[in-house]
Amino acid sequence: MLFLNDIPKGFFNITPKEITKVINGPTIIHLKGDNKTPVFVSILLHGNEFSSLIILQKVLKKYHKKTLPKSLILFIANPQACAQGVRQLEGQLDFNRIWNGGSSPQHSVAEQVLQYVKDQKIHIAVDIHNNSGENPLYSCINKKKEEFVKLAQIFSKDIVHFTEPDSVLSIAFSEICPTVVLECGLPGNKEGLNSGVRFIETILNEDTGWKNEEVKIPYIYSTYARLYIEPDSKISFHQKPVLNNNHFCLTDQFDKFNFKELQTHTILGKIKDPKRIKLIDKTGENIFDHLFSIVDNNWIVKNPSIPSMFTKDIKIAKSDCLGYVMKKIPIDSFFRG
Ligand SMILES: [Zn+2]
Repeated sequence: MLFLNDIPKGFFNITPKEITKVINGPTIIHLKGDNKTPVFVSILLHGNEFSSLIILQKVLKKYHKKTLPKSLILFIANPQACAQGVRQLEGQLDFNRIWNGGSSPQHSVAEQVLQYVKDQKIHIAVDIHNNSGENPLYSCINKKKEEFVKLAQIFSKDIVHFTEPDSVLSIAFSEICPTVVLECGLPGNKEGLNSGVRFIETILNEDTGWKNEEVKIPYIYSTYARLYIEPDSKISFHQKPVLNNNHFCLTDQFDKFNFKELQTHTILGKIKDPKRIKLIDKTGENIFDHLFSIVDNNWIVKNPSIPSMFTKDIKIAKSDCLGYVMKKIPIDSFFRG
């Protein structure tokens, strides 16, 4: 773990693939600003999600040789994976699944980061990501508190609340200060970059103004279950799904369902063996049969739900999950619940 007080030389000119020429491992850069209460921003927890790097390059370039309006603690998690264009290196744990304790080298990085920020009295934390499927730009929060929603709505009107997996960075930081995850669409997506830059500039320049804003969104998406498939499954995507040798052949429109209500009777693809797919809720129960049925190998929607992060990335589908299901919760009952 490296600690710096300046932006390393060459930082503004590197492409994501070149990052290790400048930063070669987990690094904290603590930049002092006029307002000494720092904002915490983490980037590249997933190495291939390089929008976060470009957003910070763009923002910091504007303040180059000037003092930032606010102090910034920037955590650059996995530059080596970024240089290789992968989520994490072979043999590494997922950097966004290490924030609730453990004994690996990455857990020790997480502990050092948390220890460092606890001594610095940060007042906002932001973790920036991309996703692998078609999703709108959205933000995620982990606490049912007004401040969290007010922070998240600066980035997007689509806000997702989740509590699982509980080993993510944002849940650990939610115990310290209002924390938000920015999901900036596919890596490099222009709209995601622009919105990310606007968000970071806003929080660097605003003192507490955002806290005085009204909550402007009518409802929040709440994630309540994750879809898992057996990791050794053979899976493919096709316009007209046919199983052949596959355990799964899903529609090539699979990620187009994200953030849209899945209508009853929709067919999502074909599944050879129902035992290979599970929809696990927060209590660990498999609730697949509540929402879906499998008839003649067809995977059919039985009851409506709203998908997010439904992915066509087979590696992620196997190692993490195939996606999440959510429901819309009116904002009043969200705060009451
Ligand atoms: Zn990510």
